[in-house]
Amino acid sequence: MTIRAIRIMGDPVLHSIAAPVDEITDEIRELVADMYETMDAAPGVGLAAPQVGVGLRIYVYTYEDDEGNPWRGEIINPELWMTPPSPGDPDPDDESEGCLSFPGERFPLRRSDEVRVTGIDLDGNSVDIRVDGWRARIMQHEFDHLDGILYIDRLGDGDWKTTQKIARKRGWGRPGAAWTPGIDALDA
Ligand code: ZN
Repeated sequence: MTIRAIRIMGDPVLHSIAAPVDEITDEIRELVADMYETMDAAPGVGLAAPQVGVGLRIYVYTYEDDEGNPWRGEIINPELWMTPPSPGDPDPDDESEGCLSFPGERFPLRRSDEVRVTGIDLDGNSVDIRVDGWRARIMQHEFDHLDGILYIDRLGDGDWKTTQKIARKRGWGRPGAAWTPGIDALDA
């Protein structure tokens, strides 16, 4: 397994719609193994294939609840349904999220509290997940990556402008921008 470089906002693969996986090959199995290793090294709670430069509809996730129960898996060719997000402004303390492709920053974003995700796992078995709270947030965030959407694209005008300033300052917002967990001194 290999830790892969994580693309940063501005790299075209992050802003493109990813293609469905036709067949689970050894190459796909290796990609998913590398994605788990890269996510854990970062560390992050989710990672989508476009973030490691592969435009395919796959993401991995990992999360531990307050009781320390692990929740972890991969989803290939997901479909997502959600309840409408409740109206109002997000709470910066409880509703801020970050992204390994915009590392080191967090911004508040209102998300739907409940989602259902279906798809298949690496063995080709069907997956049907119904979750709420932070798990639902992770699902929405990772699913967005497969449609070329970063969470910063969903922020209000003021925060969005702030992200553009940060990107300019750090030399992001261009093809090829990337960082590698464990190698680059950059954490999310
Ligand atoms: Zn992300």
